[in-house]
Amino acid sequence: MSLTITLLGTGSPMPSPDRAGPATLISAGDGPEGEHYLVDAGRGVLMRLAAIGLGAPNLSAVLLTHLHSDHITDLNDVITTRWVMTFEPTPLTIVGPVGTKAVVDHIMASLAPDISYRIAHHQDLEQGPQVEVIEVVEGPVDLPGNVRVHCAQTDHKPVEPSIGFRFDLEGASVVTAGDTVPCAGLDSLCDGAGALVHTVIRKDIIANIPLQRMQDTLDYHSSPEEAAQTATRCNVGTLVLTHYVPPIPTGGDGADWRALATVHFDGPIELGDDLHRIEITPIQ
Ligand SMILES: [Zn+2]
Repeated sequence: MSLTITLLGTGSPMPSPDRAGPATLISAGDGPEGEHYLVDAGRGVLMRLAAIGLGAPNLSAVLLTHLHSDHITDLNDVITTRWVMTFEPTPLTIVGPVGTKAVVDHIMASLAPDISYRIAHHQDLEQGPQVEVIEVVEGPVDLPGNVRVHCAQTDHKPVEPSIGFRFDLEGASVVTAGDTVPCAGLDSLCDGAGALVHTVIRKDIIANIPLQRMQDTLDYHSSPEEAAQTATRCNVGTLVLTHYVPPIPTGGDGADWRALATVHFDGPIELGDDLHRIEITPIQ
């Protein structure tokens, strides 16, 4: 068995016509029969899922790395669409750091008018969206299915807490770092992993933009160089870069991003447009 990484959204808070907001799908198996774990739910996530033939009802769980708006913008869409597109109650499991339950409660409150309209209008709808929130700190995450999930604290201060996830299936493993600077928690997840999916920003470019608002982002993200150093330090098989700030231009191959990482990591480096797909096989 292998795990498949699909970069659903490779964008960032900066709107891009071609890059959806942060979202990565980790799958075991294809199609509706597979297990599908959505890590973060940024802008346009359901459009990107639709592009690979999946929808909100097919998700095994949604896992949030942290509660920054760009990573949860479309969580409301996932909740509502799963509810209205399934014909029997199908609770959505949402795993996230402490604070997730309060955010989900507020999203549900904001959906109250919509929920009341639909229940009033559709005779077969008797209750609103069913959501189960699991707040985690570190260690194993108790989810059904064949994929084992662990989490650990990352460092995205002052965003606290923030967490990364590791997915394991019969020797195949993928870590999703989320937004973080290099840290011991991430290293513990990455140890010997088949792949590391890391959000990155080009610090060499951002540092030269004379806007304090941009410069503020330097101290709580990793650069491609830092992500590569983490991958090397932890014996990771494949490094996957995502969340490109500034956006890689349409049609660009990201060669300059790859070159920065290659200096520090000699394994395969993957990056690309939304829907880029990488298969991670068990380590022999
Ligand atoms: Zn963030």
